[in-house]
Amino acid sequence: MIGELENEKIWELVIEIHIFAQILIMKIKTAEFVISNTDYKLGPTDGKPEYAFIGRSNVGKSSLINMLTNHKKLAKTSGKPGKTQLINHFIINDEWYIVDLPGYGYAKASKRSRAQWEKFIVEYLTQCKSLVTIFVLLDSRLEPQKIDLEFMNWCGEKGLPFSMVFTKMDKLSSTQLQKNMAKYRKEMLKYWAELPPVFITSSESKFGQEKMLNYIGDLNDAILLK
Ligand code: GDP
Repeated sequence: MIGELENEKIWELVIEIHIFAQILIMKIKTAEFVISNTDYKLGPTDGKPEYAFIGRSNVGKSSLINMLTNHKKLAKTSGKPGKTQLINHFIINDEWYIVDLPGYGYAKASKRSRAQWEKFIVEYLTQCKSLVTIFVLLDSRLEPQKIDLEFMNWCGEKGLPFSMVFTKMDKLSSTQLQKNMAKYRKEMLKYWAELPPVFITSSESKFGQEKMLNYIGDLNDAILLK
């Protein structure tokens, strides 16, 4: 039987763990739109860490950005896929940036707009010194898509750090989710020795919010300590 003293100690421990966990969870205090551009050089120059979000049109990018920042309308959810064709910067807690990049793979985009997309996105991803990592969004309901695999391979070839972020996990069963993730894993391991970090998210249930924010918080801390 646990004595009163032990009981008290256990509670102290529980409280301590709770406080520790609270310190670890990044809180969103402020989130504001800063600027939209097609030329990243016209964007922020303060050197604060930048985290890029990219994926196919309609993958759930705007919803994820809104979910992560606890905002309803920070990023515009697109009624028309492929509509937002700009590099959008949002400043979070006055410390770091979310960079919302235009969606790729919109079937109806003209060749010219695709070429433009490539030019300014490639420039941003390969030249922006403040870019810490890229979150590549993948619709968890779909089988591995050629365009996503090509984009991730390109990131790897260029030595650009990225994570795989599965979206809309609330829309399928956990068995189906595991199956689709396993297929991605298999495809990725054809080209790479190990997988990048993987996040599973739902903008509906907020699943994955804490993990992604803490990951960003850890990277921010590591940059500050450098
Ligand atoms: P974007 O084009 O990548 O910015 O995609 P949006 O954020 O505009 O989302 C496209 C559609 O998917 C919208 O109808 C969203 O409501 C829906 N959606 C996005 N994320 C989720 C999610 O996590 N769960 C569910 N059920 N629907 C989502």
